[in-house]
Amino acid sequence: MRYISTRALRSDDPSLYCSASRAIIRGLAEDGGLYVPETIPLLSREELSSLPALTYEDTACLILGKYLDFDPHLIRTMVQEAYSSFDSEGPVAIRPLGSGPVSVLELWHGPSCAFKDMALQLLPRLLTASLQHEDIQDLIWILTATSGDTGKAALEGFKDVPGTRITVFYPHQGVSAVQEAQMVRQQGTNVDVVAIKGNFDDAQSAVKRLFSDTCLAERLAQKHILLSSANSINWGRLLPQIVYYVYTAVRLGTPEQPVDFSVPTGNFGDILAGYYAKAMGAPVGRLICASNANNVLTDFLTTGTYDRNRPFYKTSSPSMDILVSSNLERLLYLASGGDGPLICSLMKQLSDRGRYTVPPELLHRIRQDFSAGYTDDDVTSGTIRYVSETFGYLCDPHTAVAAHIAFEDVKQQELAGQVPAPMVILSTASPFKFPETVLKAAGLQEAEGFDALDKVSGNYQLPIPAGLASLRDLSRRFDKVMEPSELDSLFL
Ligand SMILES: *Cc1c(COP(=O)(O)O)cnc(C)c1O
Repeated sequence: MRYISTRALRSDDPSLYCSASRAIIRGLAEDGGLYVPETIPLLSREELSSLPALTYEDTACLILGKYLDFDPHLIRTMVQEAYSSFDSEGPVAIRPLGSGPVSVLELWHGPSCAFKDMALQLLPRLLTASLQHEDIQDLIWILTATSGDTGKAALEGFKDVPGTRITVFYPHQGVSAVQEAQMVRQQGTNVDVVAIKGNFDDAQSAVKRLFSDTCLAERLAQKHILLSSANSINWGRLLPQIVYYVYTAVRLGTPEQPVDFSVPTGNFGDILAGYYAKAMGAPVGRLICASNANNVLTDFLTTGTYDRNRPFYKTSSPSMDILVSSNLERLLYLASGGDGPLICSLMKQLSDRGRYTVPPELLHRIRQDFSAGYTDDDVTSGTIRYVSETFGYLCDPHTAVAAHIAFEDVKQQELAGQVPAPMVILSTASPFKFPETVLKAAGLQEAEGFDALDKVSGNYQLPIPAGLASLRDLSRRFDKVMEPSELDSLFL
């Protein structure tokens, strides 16, 4: 399978294509676009009928094999290693809520307790195999800015992986107590964690500056070091996420009765993987884009205008506090039939003026597959309580955002006299990752950090996930706090 940039100006020039390995090593294309596969491979009728009986790992091997040029045995080894670090319920668990049409798909049984592990346990393996495939011997240095969840998942994925090192940058005093403990107590010999004075955007821009610093790249090249990113713009992060949509859709749906998915969305990576699963032929119905008060995507999917010129809110679902959803670029490319010149123009408008409007036909096409909604923190909190009291199920605030939009959607279908389609809420984090918010939602006495973990565990009779419980016995290893302008000194 060949890959091409979303900003490629023509598709008939073979020099514009690259291999899957190159796309994974580079992350971002040189023209600033994102890599997409040349075509979307289809699942055959036979594959679709055998899929419901396959394990998660077998499903992953089948899907990954269609997009990568690696030997099938190598893919199998990578998949097995990646998901062996998940707990005994993993890699995914489907939980029906009561006897209605709604289920929860738990994606947080990996080491960091967030869905980022689904991709970040595989990415280092895909990257290492890609380097071998391309005969590149340089050391890969991963730089990642995080608002909380990506950092820990990337650290866990890359720790002690030969030929790599990783530095994670998080906003100083801008992540939860549990998230900070997860990062600064990280084990491994090739890892580093730095707090940046500023918010997530400051950390992100500082890292972007490092990537575009050609002097730094040259200096590092002399030492045989290549910078790369574990961000969700990398195709190697999107690809593993297609698997759980296919796995779930073939179990809960049929071609006549496809499954709707409600997805708590930030950078649009997770929900875009659902679009790929649908395009491959899996029985996926509508993809519902669930946002918090940072509802730039709700507005886009309603009006066709993407406008990032708006206030930024810090919410109780911080991993979705984002105003520039990078992976939307891939959807615009796919839905416009691969119109590179259009994507170039839209992305230039976004960087110059912070906004763009898509042609009405394009919005129409996107709305055939996507709908959207948003909640505020009060509704999110109320939903955590409602789901717990009604179904005896405890969910985290990100999952609650998607749950609220899903319930509203099902209600609308019923009011319209329809039998609601199966609806899956993607659960992207363990409730133990955000224990303070969960306690508050339940009206329990508030607590912080490990005390909050104990309270949630005691109150709901749930065990604290091993990855979080073991943090208590570890001590802090990293305490660097830096100005965004100082990061150069890390490379001296
Ligand atoms: C990253 C994250 C999201 C958003 O996923 P995107 O792929 O960025 O849309 C949602 N919930 C949690 C818990 C996350 O960590």
